[in-house]
Amino acid sequence: MKRRAANSGHFQPDIAPDHFLRIIFKPTFNRLRIPRDFVRWFGEVPSNIIVTANTGCYWRMTTVREGDDVYIDQGWAAFAVAHHLQIGQFLVFKKVSTFQYNMVIFDYTCTEVMTMCGYHGDATKCVVFQSHV
Ligand SMILES: [Zn+2]
Repeated sequence: MKRRAANSGHFQPDIAPDHFLRIIFKPTFNRLRIPRDFVRWFGEVPSNIIVTANTGCYWRMTTVREGDDVYIDQGWAAFAVAHHLQIGQFLVFKKVSTFQYNMVIFDYTCTEVMTMCGYHGDATKCVVFQSHV
């Protein structure tokens, strides 16, 4: 009588990427596409997300799906202006939870940029939420 090994096969823990990176160029100022391969790992991205910046900013944004692409949509343009995003900068997003992403900005010297938004410290304004329901 053949017996299967009790421990047949390797258990593969679910390993999914936590980070994605975007390079700022002109179309990026309006909305930001989340890389397809990143989205694929997570399937659905909630339509309302929170993006926290390395300066402690806390911004509410919406996402929109167009075919295979998911964009960070409303709230993004205001964020880009408030943080003086510039062409050639790099943004690294870390998925904290399904709803929350922590973002770090790097400039062309590959150094983290610490740009406080104009609302920073104003608890009533730092959280920006644009909803057109
Ligand atoms: Zn702020």
